[in-house]
Amino acid sequence: MRAQPKASHFIDGAYVEDKNGETFECVYSATGETIAKLHAATPAIIEQAMTSAAKAQAEWAEWTPVQRSRVLRRAADIIRERNEALSELETLDTGKPIQETIVADATSGADALEWFASIAATLSGESVPLGADFVYTVREPLGVCVGIGAWNYPTQIACWKAAPALACGNAMVFKPSEMTPLCALKVAEIVHEAGAPAGLFNVVQGFGKVGAALTTHDLCAKVSLTGSVETGPKVYAAAAEGMRHVTMELGGKSPILVFDDASLEDAISGAMLGNFYSTGQICSNGTRVFVQRGIYETFLERLAERTKAIKLGDPLDPETQIGPMVSFAQLEKVKGYLKSAENEGARLVVGGGIPSSEKFANGAYVEPTVYADVTDEMTIAREEIFGPVMSVFPFETEEEALSRANSTPFGLAAGVFTNDLTRGHRVAKKLQAGICWINTYNLTPVEVPFGGVKKSGLGRENGKAAMEFYSQLKTVHVGM
Ligand code: NAD
Repeated sequence: MRAQPKASHFIDGAYVEDKNGETFECVYSATGETIAKLHAATPAIIEQAMTSAAKAQAEWAEWTPVQRSRVLRRAADIIRERNEALSELETLDTGKPIQETIVADATSGADALEWFASIAATLSGESVPLGADFVYTVREPLGVCVGIGAWNYPTQIACWKAAPALACGNAMVFKPSEMTPLCALKVAEIVHEAGAPAGLFNVVQGFGKVGAALTTHDLCAKVSLTGSVETGPKVYAAAAEGMRHVTMELGGKSPILVFDDASLEDAISGAMLGNFYSTGQICSNGTRVFVQRGIYETFLERLAERTKAIKLGDPLDPETQIGPMVSFAQLEKVKGYLKSAENEGARLVVGGGIPSSEKFANGAYVEPTVYADVTDEMTIAREEIFGPVMSVFPFETEEEALSRANSTPFGLAAGVFTNDLTRGHRVAKKLQAGICWINTYNLTPVEVPFGGVKKSGLGRENGKAAMEFYSQLKTVHVGM
């Protein structure tokens, strides 16, 4: 099989198999071919992973920040050296075009390891003047952190969780999505090769119940989930039982507001990046594009021209800009949304179906699609689609656009396109979102905190802020 790993799990510095675990397949969605067969973790595997992580963590916590940084930096270097192979694996795992994965996946994972290596030593407390007494605070690691991943960025998600966790002196046991099990194994292998104690970053496979077992394990101090708004509250509730820390990176239905003074081509580029990149499978996508009435039809015309020019194809072809959906199940879900748009009266501008060419027949392909005259009540305006489907809405005033943009239970991201600097900041201030982009969209460099408000999540990944979510404060009060 084309991408069969040495074994299903990576624990204590080695590949491990337990054939008693439920079998599942990893399918390459461009062709329908099974590229790997794996076993989900059994209770024995979960125990082994958590125990070895706890042992490694006890050792790692005694290392100095500089020693820890050295390992993370070495891991980043190895990832960069192997970028080509890791990008190809990411493409096989997800179906995302190689043109993207070669620049955005393993490299952004390496960036995370490098950035958190560089700030590991900044983790510090403060001294508090208190009369004659001496009081100081220290930031301590949490212990064993559990990471649970979604399927859209398997390498990046593993690194975005492991890098701050390890930099703060924790260990991590990571469960990738059952849809994309391959890439995280490589990351764990590389972290070990870079000199981390065996067990510091373990990977176990399986479905939601494996994630649930990890979340409620006695040794679990924190859970960081990247997943849907349906799974988030379940994991949050399970973690609450043991008063475990959580970070929740969940779904969205983010708005992009395009005012009539914006640069039209920049706004269209932002909307396309925020809807079609990664075949539309990005949590922060700006899937509700509000365009001011005066430029509405011109915006749609240019958007249609540019969308028609997108090259759909074999994800391993470097010319391909859009590949298949991650899975045939996700394709069915997206097709359901296209049907609902048709039934509820949205105006189809471009796409709207399955590409007709024979060469796409065995893959999970869907055309990049734009609907206009979408109303706020339509299903495609309210629910996260997680596919290349953009909804465009006309609006008249800033107040109206803001009110409609905010009338959603989600709050992950938002975008504003305007050449009026004051309006840009005013609108960003009023948008209910964890991250607002002005005159750009979906940029997520590791230096910048990322995460949602409302039902889109809790806590932050990346940036210095992430360190707070992987460490805890201790106060030491010395009576003098
Ligand atoms: P999902 O919620 O179905 O699954 C996510 C992970 O949770 C999987 O590994 C799954 O096995 C696990 N899981 C499921 N039930 C569980 C339980 N009860 N206990 C513990 N673990 C459990 O999500 P998905 O379909 O894999 O991913 C798509 C979703 O992820 C979208 O909603 C998307 O917006 C979101 N996402 C968010 C971000 C972000 O940073 N905010 C990034 C990427 C994806």
